[in-house]
Amino acid sequence: MSMKRYRYIFRGLVQGVGFRPFIYNLAKDLGLVGFVKNIGEGVLAEFQGKLEDTAAIDEYIEKKLPRNAKIEAIEKYEIEPIFDESDFYILDSSKGKISTIVPFDLGLCEECREEFYTQNHRHFMNPFISCINCGPRYTIIESLPYDRSRTSMKEFKFCDNCKKEYYTPDNRRFNAQSTTCPVCGPHLFLYSFVEKKHIDGNNLELLDRVCEEIEKGKIVAIKGIGGFHLVVDPYNKESVERIFQSKKREGKPLALVCKYIETVKKYCNVSKAEEEIFNSPRCPIILFEKKTNDFLYVNGGLHTLGIMRAYTPILDYILTKTNKDLLIATSANLSGIPMIIDEDEAIEKLCDIADFVLYHNRKIVRRCDDSVGFILNDKFVLIRSGRGFAPITFKLKEKAVDKNILALGSHEKTTIALKKEDEVILSQYLGDLDTKEYIDFYTSTLNDLISLYDFKFDYIACDYHKDYYTTSLAQKIAKEQNKEVVFVQHHLAHIYSCMLEKNLQSCIGFAFDGTGLGLDGKIWGSEGFVIDGLEAKRVFHLQYYPLVGGQKAIKEPARLAYYFSEIISPEFAKNFFGEDEILQQIFKTAATFNYPLTSSMGRLFDIVGVLLGCGKKNSFEAQIPMLLESIADRDEDGFYIFLMNFKHEIEINIVDILQQIIHDIKRNVDRRIISAKFHNTIAKIVVEVAKVLRENYNKDIVVLSGGVFQNKFLLSKTVSFLEEEGFEVFFNSVFPINDGGISAGQVYYTLQLLKNC
Ligand code: ZN
Ligand code: ZN
Ligand code: FE
Repeated sequence: MSMKRYRYIFRGLVQGVGFRPFIYNLAKDLGLVGFVKNIGEGVLAEFQGKLEDTAAIDEYIEKKLPRNAKIEAIEKYEIEPIFDESDFYILDSSKGKISTIVPFDLGLCEECREEFYTQNHRHFMNPFISCINCGPRYTIIESLPYDRSRTSMKEFKFCDNCKKEYYTPDNRRFNAQSTTCPVCGPHLFLYSFVEKKHIDGNNLELLDRVCEEIEKGKIVAIKGIGGFHLVVDPYNKESVERIFQSKKREGKPLALVCKYIETVKKYCNVSKAEEEIFNSPRCPIILFEKKTNDFLYVNGGLHTLGIMRAYTPILDYILTKTNKDLLIATSANLSGIPMIIDEDEAIEKLCDIADFVLYHNRKIVRRCDDSVGFILNDKFVLIRSGRGFAPITFKLKEKAVDKNILALGSHEKTTIALKKEDEVILSQYLGDLDTKEYIDFYTSTLNDLISLYDFKFDYIACDYHKDYYTTSLAQKIAKEQNKEVVFVQHHLAHIYSCMLEKNLQSCIGFAFDGTGLGLDGKIWGSEGFVIDGLEAKRVFHLQYYPLVGGQKAIKEPARLAYYFSEIISPEFAKNFFGEDEILQQIFKTAATFNYPLTSSMGRLFDIVGVLLGCGKKNSFEAQIPMLLESIADRDEDGFYIFLMNFKHEIEINIVDILQQIIHDIKRNVDRRIISAKFHNTIAKIVVEVAKVLRENYNKDIVVLSGGVFQNKFLLSKTVSFLEEEGFEVFFNSVFPINDGGISAGQVYYTLQLLKNC
């Protein structure tokens, strides 16, 4: 064997995951000299030694890759050996072009957890314990490449022990940028709203005080990884009620946190895939299906509980010390204001909600809510992309277009997407852009991402709806920077978001949603498309119906429900709604008043929910449809009859369906059965329409996307019905299935457009 030298460039999730130490150990184990360093676009290593070829290196990489690392691509080639090298080194980073995957925040790992509870260990009770496998990342990074000096950890100079760990190659904290200890690391502070002052004490004393207060039923705002939580004892109904009142979202489910999956299993059914993601470092809030009637006052009466693993040492400790199996840990956000990330703001704004504020002096560089989602068919369906997922980095399967694209998303649950070279990067959840505070969060994140990724774009994509803030912003930026704007219809963007994930060029797509502006000026929301590249033909929708009550009908669907009841059966309307003057007035004027026409599927779920007694108002988005899903009888397989009207598109009249539902209600059929039959009907509609389209267009791939498919019961029914008929079915499992995925869809649509240019 002769002396050879190889250069490797690794791309993918290779920074902040213990990759350089891993490469160092590889070199040591194989007796190689050379170096490794972070570069803007990934990790660069050179190996030199008596080598035949790269087989031994490649095998080592394959077998021993760190658990959180993900290599997307390796570029390697032989170079000239250097003869005066005698060791293997980890070099400081060099800033090059930046396209590396930014690491997401990682939940507490088992090793750190153990050290945390080991007396006499130097990390005993270290509230900021972390290592190469766990700890904050995205939320502490100021700029790339990922090095301590470019994070909010730079404030904390290593003590001798931390320094030793950081520089010892076989240590778990070797080159771990978030490494810190009680001697040199951040400190805890506790502010009492009652005493209006800070409480004295060291980290442990303050933590113990917090535990005592939580046991007494107090509400403590706690600074975490991506923002503040409100933490409270879920067994204390009075305290839970206080949180509901202060958040002004009566009935909105509160998230729970626990240490072990065994706890979840006490209350919920848990699949293997759910257990896996629960124990993963991502630690999202997982919507588990309940099997007991506990915590109905926590989850708004739904059939699910949102539970996440205790991903910080602080949450883990509070659970241990208070001996509670579960705690409520809900984002500390007042209505209309994004989650609080700053202690001064917490002390200023949370006085009416919390009793204490526990915070630390490690700065949260960017806000990141907890992620939320559910498992269907072993795939994780994201409803909110935040801590543990954001930024989502998706590698394009083909690099057909070299132009960069900035996509500004929709209006609600917004996200921003960047298409940079061969990657699509999706921001964290940025909320509904109805208030100045959320708009500020949105614009600051936009600037943040552009600078973090050193991003320059050629095209800017946005929604087709001209009244959205994001649309006018896109036009403004385009004008200022002389770029072209691409307007993408909302429901098409939903379908394209999923097509991007699966690298599809053509499909049948169903976007079931609340409302979005259609290309014909009407309000769409139940659209079926046949798509070939850029060409998208609308082929299905619910027959237009008037959005009686206008925009208010979204919050108060009783307006719509009454309207249809009155049309179908005035006697039923009277019995069900009583003498409601407002509703009657709205009905009387409906014929003369020009209400906008809609094909919204979300509103249909609202109407049925109202008729089945799930409420008359949505106090938060989709409250009634969520309850409607919750009550559905999982064993019922009946459905309502529907007629497909073959007009220009296939249309289905919702009056026919509502008529049968009202008929069932009059016959006192159990509402759980009616709800299930309704869900089955919608799934059946998709299948029957898809069958016609398969005949006519010779396509058998079906894509499902849009906010209505957050309804897991509907999604799973639709998928299984379609699969039974031999369709290949896809739904979002990378980008959010709701409006959080719109920006990704806008990117893919623009890519199709550019491919055709
Ligand atoms: Zn760890
Ligand atoms: Zn230290
Ligand atoms: Fe949508």
